[in-house]
Amino acid sequence: SQIPMPLALYGERKNSAGFEFGHRDNLERLMARIGQPFPEIAARPLVPGATGATSDEAVLSPADRTHKVGTVRNATPADVDRAFAAGRQGFALWSRTPVEERAATLDKLADLLEADRDRLLALLALEAGKTLDDGVAEIREAVDFCRYYAAQARKQFGEAEVMPGPTGELNRLSWRGRGVFACISPWNFPLAIFLGQVSAALVAGNAVIAKPAPQTPLIAFEAVKLFHKAGVPEDVLMLLPGAGDVGAAIVAHPKLAGIAFTGSTGTAQAINRALAAKDGPIVPLIAETGGLNAMIVDATALAEQVADDVVLSAFRSAGQRCSALRILYLQEDIADGMLEMIEGAARELNLGNPLEITTDIGPVIDEKQKAMLEAHIAEMKRSQKVRYAGKVPATGNFFAPHIVELDRPEALTKEIFGPVLHVVRWKAKALDQVIASIDATGYGLTLGVHSRIEATIRKVTEALDTGNIYVNRNMIGAVVGTQPFGGSGMSGTGFKAGGPAYLSRFAVEQVISVNT
Ligand code: NAP
Repeated sequence: SQIPMPLALYGERKNSAGFEFGHRDNLERLMARIGQPFPEIAARPLVPGATGATSDEAVLSPADRTHKVGTVRNATPADVDRAFAAGRQGFALWSRTPVEERAATLDKLADLLEADRDRLLALLALEAGKTLDDGVAEIREAVDFCRYYAAQARKQFGEAEVMPGPTGELNRLSWRGRGVFACISPWNFPLAIFLGQVSAALVAGNAVIAKPAPQTPLIAFEAVKLFHKAGVPEDVLMLLPGAGDVGAAIVAHPKLAGIAFTGSTGTAQAINRALAAKDGPIVPLIAETGGLNAMIVDATALAEQVADDVVLSAFRSAGQRCSALRILYLQEDIADGMLEMIEGAARELNLGNPLEITTDIGPVIDEKQKAMLEAHIAEMKRSQKVRYAGKVPATGNFFAPHIVELDRPEALTKEIFGPVLHVVRWKAKALDQVIASIDATGYGLTLGVHSRIEATIRKVTEALDTGNIYVNRNMIGAVVGTQPFGGSGMSGTGFKAGGPAYLSRFAVEQVISVNT
């Protein structure tokens, strides 16, 4: 196959991060390489002729709100217009650039990311609160996206396909970019998701306007500079940082040709409504959204494995993964013992500075997110049993892991984006009810099943249309090209990121029929 093996499959952590974990001297080497203090970054719109707002805003570290990581100058409405005008020009040339050249820029970008990994790792920790372990995984995923989409584009867009037809007629199908594509991304994978969307849109032949989440403009700014360094022209990829109104202005723009959006379900629905209200071309929306992800554990499951997988799936990255476990369905017969083990493992987690090698869990992204989690726990306490709440460091946006026992699954109806594990007990022979409860949420992103009964696994996987199902393992960390990722229903439109169909949605087909 032309598709290179994703980096993660090489097995060695040091391939992406350049050092192995578990050794303090490696951390010291990293710190020595990045230099301390880390130089401040001044992000601004990257659009030919853009002015940006009149003042800059400070970007503070979520782990320490006294630490200024950099500044951001947000885009203005005039910058949005400038970006579309420049993008139309950029598109005219880029869409005619051979696929091989477009793909080669992604391969070059992958090399640049690997070369810049130490700085990116530090920036992921400082701006997004990513632990070193999470940072390594994120850089690796970003590199994998570049190489995978480059290989897919060569395969899918490289040659026109000759279609069967009558003698004397030549029918050829080819793919071309759609125009100026918008990529709107969340803060929780500020490098991998940001860059994954942009790479796909670019390699398919579009000009791209990227709008990062307001919490993580600096990483996006650095990533776009790397794209430019890799050879993507400045009027082909543009960055519009903004908080609140910039995204809506991009969506409303008459020259918009398509949107790749990753974020909450509510925002995707708002974008859908805005697109539906517009006149002019009908543009596609690729939406990857939230989940109310469940794990079903029956009495035959391996207890130690379950405890490990639950803690990882619910609490790693402070639960700020769309794939994270939110509701654990434990078969009643084993529930008490399992909960004791899970709680015991949760107690061992170390919350703190993400740049420390001993830290398991970093901060949540901002005060708003922390307040939302506190309000959720206060509400749960009124009617449900909060059975565990860990301790937090005194400063920064930290929120401790919590375990909440629900008296019924319907007590949780929306995604709670943080380290809160909800638990429901189910009676043997009531598997159908569990399946019905999961189905009734309307979400379909990830699902875990822990059972050693083949028939149970088959029944669950056949009954639910959840996008990514994990059996007898944890349910996070999908690998590009191996576990294409994305949900159904309220969790997204597809096609799956990191999968063979993803690029199709970024391009249009054209058929030319010639009477020979
Ligand atoms: P969010 O609040 O929906 O924001 C995502 C992006 O949309 C931001 O850049 C935001 O910027 C922008 N935005 C908000 N309203 C907009 C509008 N009306 N028009 C255009 N753009 C708009 O999500 P988040 O809090 O950043 O991210 C967490 C969510 O993402 C969770 O629900 C998580 O499950 C989901 N997620 C899903 C996946 C997946 O693959 N399925 C992966 C990661 C995260 P502004 O606020 O500045 O407008």
